[in-house]
Amino acid sequence: MYYSQMTADELRVVYAELENEYNKMKAQGLALDLSRGKPSPAQLDLVTDMLTCVSTIDDCKAENGFDCRNYGVLDGIPEAKKLFSDLYGIPTANIIIGGNSSLNLMYDAVARAMLYGVVGSKAPWGRLEKVKFLCPVPGYDRHFAITQSLGVEMICVPMLPTGPDMDMVEELVANDESVKGIWCCPKYSNPDGYTYSDETVERLAKMTTAATDFRIFWDNAYAIHELHAEGGDVLADIFEACRRYGNENRVFYFASTSKISFPGAGLAMIAMSAENMAQVKDVMTIQTIGHDKLNQLRHVKYFGNAENVHKHMMKLAEIIRPKFEIVERVLSTNLGGTGSATWTQPKGGYFVSLYTVEGCAKRTYQLCKEAGVVLTNVGATYPYGKDPSDSNIRISPTFPSNADLEKAMEVFSVCVRLAAVEKFLNK
Ligand code: PLP
Repeated sequence: MYYSQMTADELRVVYAELENEYNKMKAQGLALDLSRGKPSPAQLDLVTDMLTCVSTIDDCKAENGFDCRNYGVLDGIPEAKKLFSDLYGIPTANIIIGGNSSLNLMYDAVARAMLYGVVGSKAPWGRLEKVKFLCPVPGYDRHFAITQSLGVEMICVPMLPTGPDMDMVEELVANDESVKGIWCCPKYSNPDGYTYSDETVERLAKMTTAATDFRIFWDNAYAIHELHAEGGDVLADIFEACRRYGNENRVFYFASTSKISFPGAGLAMIAMSAENMAQVKDVMTIQTIGHDKLNQLRHVKYFGNAENVHKHMMKLAEIIRPKFEIVERVLSTNLGGTGSATWTQPKGGYFVSLYTVEGCAKRTYQLCKEAGVVLTNVGATYPYGKDPSDSNIRISPTFPSNADLEKAMEVFSVCVRLAAVEKFLNK
């Protein structure tokens, strides 16, 4: 029976049982972590041969004969661009291969806009009285950290299973010139695992913006991170849609191999229209003479082509899928029918998003902490760290072993229920 439908006496019985269970778990002195959106060592081990696939002088030459040990090639060697082009369906001419982090490219893109403006700007954003970004929530804490750190005001827009609430987005961008951007994680979003619908992509491409220099920060971090060989979500092509409406300058597109090869030593990409490209390169050329081309070679030599990358993603899925299955099984067994939470069931990506009864997320976090289970900071999935409903909790199942994950999810489930019962009992 749903807790919300129980009498106080019935709730007190449930509470006593849960408290007993919780105290037993607490006594085990656990030290488990559900907070880290990181690959497990087993995933990283699969890519070990990449460490040695560039080992001789001959290995260091790009296809065009360029010696990758040396300075140069700001935007990436052609074969690395081709690999990304085939993976993400973007022409090579629109791609820059950066360093090891797409987050770094995102920070630079916003910082560049603040310092120099973007194509279509009347002034650098940093000289304007106010700059605002739309932030679909819940979202990725590090996106919000970038805009917060650069003094951008963040406006929350609810994230729906189809993407951001587009009625609200359209209204905000149409009527406020200071709204300059939107953060998007369009496929297997962090943390809900939702994928933007075709209609959402179309509306983002088409919408009228009061700002002449509005930008979509399209962080397609989980573009090819499927949990199953078939039946994954399909995301529409934002560039194609923007081109149709004459808005091709609207998008900065980001991706990386952080969760394909190594998060500390992968490749990142930024892609954009030709006009944006010219402006970005003008600034980037002041920042660096070129990124790590030996690492670009390593990725190209190791994977060979996009098809092999997809095959590799299926090997990773064999490791990751059982973890998502553990999360789903433990949650549905322990929370199903209690009304203490709802949660998402993504077909890819790195996270499951759980929503407690309103006002119970912080308490759940605290109970977990005291029982030795670390969760992602509650509130982190919202700008300024404030979840107005105190309800969203991000679960990151990839890093722990299956046995640890199972144990952590059992503790977590008890904490979610305990927090809900406390709330209904007004403790
Ligand atoms: N974007 C999203 C949505 C993420 O979830 C993460 C990492 O968790 C990143 C970007 C980080 O990307 P990178 O390792 O390429 O900097």
